[in-house]
Amino acid sequence: MEATLNKTNNEVKQEESLNLFTSTQIVIKDALEKLGYAEEFYELLKEPLRMLTVRIPVKMDDGRVEIFTGYRAQHNDAVGPTKGGIRFHPEVDEDEVKALSIWMSLKCGIVDLPYGGGKGGIICDPRQMSFGELERLSRGYVRAISQIVGPTKDIPAPDVYTNSQIMSWMMDEYSRLRENDSPGFITGKPLVLGGSHGRETATAQGVTICIEEAAKKKGIDLVGARVVIQGFGNAGSFLAKFMHDAGAKVIGISDALGALYNPDGLDINYLLDCRDSFGTVTNQFENTITNQELLELECDILVPAAISNQITATNAHNIKASIIVEAANGPTTLEATKILTEREILLVPDVLASSGGVTVSYFEWVQNNQGYYWSEEEVAEKLRSIIVRSFNNVYDLSQSRDVNMRLAAYMVGARKMAEASHFRGWV
Ligand code: NAD
Repeated sequence: MEATLNKTNNEVKQEESLNLFTSTQIVIKDALEKLGYAEEFYELLKEPLRMLTVRIPVKMDDGRVEIFTGYRAQHNDAVGPTKGGIRFHPEVDEDEVKALSIWMSLKCGIVDLPYGGGKGGIICDPRQMSFGELERLSRGYVRAISQIVGPTKDIPAPDVYTNSQIMSWMMDEYSRLRENDSPGFITGKPLVLGGSHGRETATAQGVTICIEEAAKKKGIDLVGARVVIQGFGNAGSFLAKFMHDAGAKVIGISDALGALYNPDGLDINYLLDCRDSFGTVTNQFENTITNQELLELECDILVPAAISNQITATNAHNIKASIIVEAANGPTTLEATKILTEREILLVPDVLASSGGVTVSYFEWVQNNQGYYWSEEEVAEKLRSIIVRSFNNVYDLSQSRDVNMRLAAYMVGARKMAEASHFRGWV
């Protein structure tokens, strides 16, 4: 009986990704209506143009052959080639990959890159696989999707549980198939294979710049401002360092196991030394608090940088921050967005706040195409100028149209795709 009452992890996950997908569609519809586009624009943009499902046979170390399922979604290529990461995770599913490809389109539109959005994923658990198995899986995936990807068609990148080593194998496989060296096929490569400076910290840099701009709007001085960050992985840990270096007081951080809180400010450099490669640190401390308590702490700036659906109608009334900047994808539900907007909390949405990663990926592709590479300072300066411009573009639209920043960001992102699709004569 209990088994029928309790949802399995997979069922919960499917519901979440369905929620992410349907709530993305709802906001796109709102955005297109506000912009005055006819219904057929929504019909075009509500789903990816192309969704490829592939089956990848991989010889495992124990001699068995395992068949993995993978996806590649291409949301809209009216503006230019599609672009987006590849996720290796046991809970990857079709709806999640579709939703993430739409978000990539929106992000590219918001920061004004010459791309549409794409996304890929393979159902697998890389934590349980050997190096050799991962290499064979990565190469098999590239062979399976090679007809629809390429430097002028669709450019992959890293995402959850994929990294520069996996990008290197994928680039090598593609180069072999095409019989020429193709560094612009994929981004997130190591520097020696044509990677860009600043790629690893790009998402956290972008979030930092959004925090600086949002703090200016709210009249908050970052020096001494109290910051709470949920998640201490790639995005959260670099962000904690940047906030600490900017003079802010990081009073709370968390991981999947719990949260740490010190009203006088945590010792971020010490915590960075303690964290493991999966972003876990709280297991080394006593007196931890829960993630729910963390989100409701008295603070100036709250950054969800872990997983989706964290700020909901249940806790949105209890959030004390004046600014929320979403580093994670989909951490706030639509009901919660409404409550926070009514409470005049400035919410900087994921599609804007976490666009630093794809922006530096674009820089990598540009450098690969021109064969000329930029210094770390040039990358940082170009990233800053794009994020500052994009933030203010979305903020100004939200003010002039009296809508929240999520809807304004979707309006900016969707307008570019709609215009390009219209000029091409598609709608
Ligand atoms: P990561 O895997 O490096 O770290 C995730 C962190 O979240 C870890 O500290 C983990 O312990 C914590 N976490 C996991 N489950 C949790 C839970 N139930 N409650 C609280 N904390 C939990 O991931 P990341 O690359 O830092 O990405 C974090 C978020 O930012 C994701 O939503 C991701 O999609 C988004 N994002 C990341 C990038 C990037 O470049 N890294 C770019 C865009 C968006």
